[in-house]
Amino acid sequence: MKLSDPISSLTGVGAKLSEAFALKGIITLGDLLFYLPRRHDDYSHILPIAKLRPGPVSLRGRINNLKTRRIRRNLSITEAIASDDSDSVKLVWFNQPYRQSGIKTDQTYYISGQYKLSNRHYSIINPNIELVSDLPLQSARILPVYPESKTLKSAQIRRLMTNVLPLSSEIKEFMPDYVNNELKLMTYAQAIATMHYPSNLEDLAKAKLRLNFNELFPLMLANELSTRDMNRNTAISVKFKLDLAKTFVNKLPFNLTDDQRRVIWQIYQDMQSTKPMNRLVEGDVGSGKTVVAVMAAVMAMDEGYSVAFMAPTELLAKQHADTINKLLTPLGLADKLVLLTGSLKKSAKTLAIDKANATAGSLVIGTHSLLTSGVDWKNLALLIIDEQHRFGVDQRMEIQKQAKHLPHFLSVTATPIPRSLALTVLSDLKLSQLKTKPADRLDILTDIIAPSGFNRYLDKLKTELSAGHQAYVVCPYIKATDTSDGVDVETIATTYAKKLPKYPIGVLHGQMSAEAQTEVMKKFLNGEIKVLVATTVIEVGVDVPNATIMTIYGPEHFGLAQLHQLRGRVGRSQYQSHCFLIQADNSEPLPRLREFARLSDGFALSELDLRLRGPGAIYGKLQHGKFGFSLTTLDDAELVGLVKQAVDLFFKTRINLVNYKYLAQLVQSAQHITYLN
Ligand code: ADP
Ligand code: MG
Repeated sequence: MKLSDPISSLTGVGAKLSEAFALKGIITLGDLLFYLPRRHDDYSHILPIAKLRPGPVSLRGRINNLKTRRIRRNLSITEAIASDDSDSVKLVWFNQPYRQSGIKTDQTYYISGQYKLSNRHYSIINPNIELVSDLPLQSARILPVYPESKTLKSAQIRRLMTNVLPLSSEIKEFMPDYVNNELKLMTYAQAIATMHYPSNLEDLAKAKLRLNFNELFPLMLANELSTRDMNRNTAISVKFKLDLAKTFVNKLPFNLTDDQRRVIWQIYQDMQSTKPMNRLVEGDVGSGKTVVAVMAAVMAMDEGYSVAFMAPTELLAKQHADTINKLLTPLGLADKLVLLTGSLKKSAKTLAIDKANATAGSLVIGTHSLLTSGVDWKNLALLIIDEQHRFGVDQRMEIQKQAKHLPHFLSVTATPIPRSLALTVLSDLKLSQLKTKPADRLDILTDIIAPSGFNRYLDKLKTELSAGHQAYVVCPYIKATDTSDGVDVETIATTYAKKLPKYPIGVLHGQMSAEAQTEVMKKFLNGEIKVLVATTVIEVGVDVPNATIMTIYGPEHFGLAQLHQLRGRVGRSQYQSHCFLIQADNSEPLPRLREFARLSDGFALSELDLRLRGPGAIYGKLQHGKFGFSLTTLDDAELVGLVKQAVDLFFKTRINLVNYKYLAQLVQSAQHITYLN
């Protein structure tokens, strides 16, 4: 028997059961062994019947007086009396008539089940019973409860598990023995075996600790390796010039918020060091992160060092180029700006690259492909990453290869990272928060619109349009199909064209060419288009301050973070802005959407999202594959402490990853996590 043998090699597993297992992703014996219980019920304490208390109980006794009654077509009740030296108790099974024939009245059984009031008498409901033995399987122990399906029940899985349990010794340990011993960690093999067959609760706790350790250790080790790697490298120290900062601020059309001042100060301090900065600026949509990033850039540019600015989409890169151009013009730095995107024609691209290379202190704006575009990065002092949440080791190595050093990293995001995650897995990252919004901003008012309220919405839209403002309309689908429910860009654009004949309507979605998208965006920005019907391509970063209405069709298709990003496209000026969620029917809105309408703070919303959907949905990419840890794990001080100790030991004893292939693999996948949602 091997871990790789098919599940059907077990006696008792035929075609039907194999199929049920396959649906759960269990193909081999190894898969079965790693199919872990959802929870454990403690039935290990055997009591005399006279001492039973309501709740889960176990006893040891004989079973008599079996009777089965058929109540109606699909309900039968089997009853029996169990007795020991102290007393007797009624056992009741629903729809398990086979109990009637299987029980031997002259034998002693373990009986485990819920002891509770039923029909004014205490009885044990649906108990598991089995003949007394040294190794009970379904009773009188800590019982593993597995994720079940219609054909796959815990009792059966327990039975099969006893057959594969010996295979657990084949599970390879990936932690150095030394660390395991020093920290008194259970081995991986023991932990798996214990999860299926714990002999006591302490062992079970140790097994769980070890499995959580497995999730967290590679991530924290990867983090530590990356910190050390950063610290081994030198970045270009960028001198701080107060005059330049003052001039920049004085030429802004607004006053910086206190938060913006504080954060830019933190960045300037980091950039003066030759230790590469690794800082994440978190700030709600519209909190003014771009200007902070540009202030950082200017300091480097003025010294003749280059800066790269990476946006998540071409659309955004172009828009940033426009915004930043305006910010640089008063300083006489606008001619150092280079826009370098993938959709540029070959000749234009060559021109852009040449300009970037020929300009001392250039600011090159583009998307992810920027770093491999052929620009010479030897003078790269600062890399700004907009709305990408995190930057992976791969990319860092690429820059190092190109630039022969590491630049300072500045990431900018509207998606806050929960504190627990920031403190453990991402501790190489320094956080800056922009909590206050620019002073003249009003909170966006959010309404959920049912069909009965649609005309009210339409009136509001017309009022805003006639006041010269603009509106977004977002749909979850591009084209009308059987499943698009009429909430696609095509259908909605047609409807709006009919309802608003006076106003030019534009369409924007990801299937359009980059040029076509830019064209439409340009027209919306300069006011030629009044209503923009779009998909979520406009989700991130698009900045048209004159837009005051955000309409979202099919809001139930979007997550809270996404809705919040979309809503953040308006409320970017001193005018009152509105967000409307258009419901398909008059039914009660989803609680999630009601909360969204109530809350305007992104930090609060991200906490709520975490509660409602769980970390899995939010940190989708982190969850993927091996890293299934939950954020509660990260709040577990004992675990986090233990993992920290292990990481320390790892470096103190100069353990070489090369000798631990599987661990090295785990660390490598941890290093590939680049996005948080
Ligand atoms: P985000 O943080 O979402 O990236 P932006 O940087 O795009 O936000 O800024 C949103 C808008 O607010 C821009 O039009 C910007 O010029 C403006 N802005 C930034 N800071 C301030 C401020 N302190 N006072 C007034 N307006 C500001
Ligand atoms: Mg932004």
